[in-house]
Amino acid sequence: MPVIAVVGANWGDEGKGKITDYLAREADFVVRYQGGNNAGHTIINEFGKFALHLLPSGVFYPKVINILGPGVAVNMSAFLSEIEKLVERGVPRPDVRISERAQVLLPHHVLFDSLEEERLGKESFGSTKSGIAPFYADKCLKIGLQVNELFDEPLMRARLAKALVQKNVVLEKLYGKPPLSVEQIVEQVAAVRERIAPYLADTTTLLLEAVDAGKTILLEGQLGTLRDPDHGIYPYPTSSSPLAGFGAVGAGIPPWAISRVVAVTKAYSSCVGAGPFVTELHGEEGETLRKRGGDAGEYGATTGRPRRVGWFDCVATLYGCRVQGATETAITNLDVLSYRDSIPVCTAYTLGGKATTAFPVSRMLDTARPVYEEMPGWKEDITAVRSFEGLPERARQYVLFIEKRIRTPIKWISVGPRREQIIMR
Ligand code: GDP
Repeated sequence: MPVIAVVGANWGDEGKGKITDYLAREADFVVRYQGGNNAGHTIINEFGKFALHLLPSGVFYPKVINILGPGVAVNMSAFLSEIEKLVERGVPRPDVRISERAQVLLPHHVLFDSLEEERLGKESFGSTKSGIAPFYADKCLKIGLQVNELFDEPLMRARLAKALVQKNVVLEKLYGKPPLSVEQIVEQVAAVRERIAPYLADTTTLLLEAVDAGKTILLEGQLGTLRDPDHGIYPYPTSSSPLAGFGAVGAGIPPWAISRVVAVTKAYSSCVGAGPFVTELHGEEGETLRKRGGDAGEYGATTGRPRRVGWFDCVATLYGCRVQGATETAITNLDVLSYRDSIPVCTAYTLGGKATTAFPVSRMLDTARPVYEEMPGWKEDITAVRSFEGLPERARQYVLFIEKRIRTPIKWISVGPRREQIIMR
């Protein structure tokens, strides 16, 4: 059986959690390979409604081994409390392992994230303030801490002392805040270290052996192509690569083992945080779509912030699918559009007076204007439909129209937020 990456084709919030939860029933492993608890993967199944932040979306199946790979930002307290909350709500205690090579996201990363967003004011990036950017910056600066290193006290203290030399200058001089001490951080670490120990594992060996044994492994991406630091809308990306290609790196498996890439996209567009968004709707039209979108309106699963919404963007999604290397697509939230008489779909951008279907570099996006084609609406409740043939003719046309333009087979169509509300083609 294959290694399947489930990733976002757009700006994130495409419904990856739902699709991963659905596919996980046949998986042996579900692996998060990047990002941290800034994720908010909404899942509605027999246990209730959940927004998973750090835990992989396989945690509802007792047989699945859930892994946080070396590429993940591990906020230890957030991890422990997320598991406990799940168990309190009646979910069997999941099997979760954290790579001993993963690095820890510490309270001062959260502090720096908040202080910087505050300092930037109107220019802020719309960070979830979970500490993700400072965490990955420290990793690149080689002053981060791998989770195994927390158990080597002299090493940990020496690394923290090195990090604080520069951090305290910034804290005091730029933000006007009191400096941090090694002792303070060690105390914070000590409070959770022993509780995290049972979850640590050599997940690299575990996954390499699983690949050899032909086990089914799902790699679960966070956010989407357009938030990739290299391929996305720089300077508004996230701080780690949400691409399937990075799945091999962040999980620790051979690239050749990934044989399928499922790119998830919504039947319209949504985007949380700052950055260019060509099909964004403002005013009443946007407000209506926002209120009707998702399972309870388009509001961030982690922050509760209203998401920006717009019509489906074939230019961004074609690019998103191709950069991901999508072998197939899942389109979610088709049911949301049932209220429309007709539905605009962006099939090209006008840029410098010319139409293009190639996704341009970020700085050109502000001047790009969407070219819309109008599709007829179906005006029928489709939430109980379970086969492609069972969909109204116009809903099928809408899906086929998009499929042609994103040049990737649409294999799943999600018609409601719950696990069973899905059509396989
Ligand atoms: P993720 O981060 O990619 O997992 O996506 P989010 O959970 O942040 O956002 C997806 C939103 O769409 C959530 O509110 C889901 O409950 C909701 N959702 C997913 N699929 C469907 C669907 O087919 N129909 C509706 N109405 N909501 C859906």
